[in-house]
Amino acid sequence: MAIRNILQIGDPTLRKKSFEVTDFGEKTHQLLDDMKETLIKADGAGLAAPQVGVLRRIFIVYVDGKFYECINPVILKQKGKQRDNEDCLSVKGKYGEVVRPNFITLKAFDRYGKPFVVNAEGFLARAFCHEYDHLDGIIYVDKAEFVREESR
Ligand code: ZN
Repeated sequence: MAIRNILQIGDPTLRKKSFEVTDFGEKTHQLLDDMKETLIKADGAGLAAPQVGVLRRIFIVYVDGKFYECINPVILKQKGKQRDNEDCLSVKGKYGEVVRPNFITLKAFDRYGKPFVVNAEGFLARAFCHEYDHLDGIIYVDKAEFVREESR
């Protein structure tokens, strides 16, 4: 495993649309393992492949002690609204308020190409939506009502 470099806003790769994954083999497993290690080190809640410079429809989320590896994800359903602060490993030192659905149903494939469905609520739903956006070149600042410097 290896720590990958996390691209920062302004990098054109973050604005590109990612491609569907067709390889569920060693190369994708390596990427997922690296992303996991990178996310743990960065102490984040989620990381999408384009953030490490790989334009593939893959993201991982780490919420409430649980890891989710999502490949070729699709949001099947969304319901309700929630408004809360959000930040991003590609927008260091800032946060912003974003409205997201409160519930979503996400379908994705695991690293072996097996499909699964997750019902997510609250922060988990927010994390999935945030990471999903990265796959289409969207960063939360595009949707935020405001973006502020973090006071640390
Ligand atoms: Zn992000």
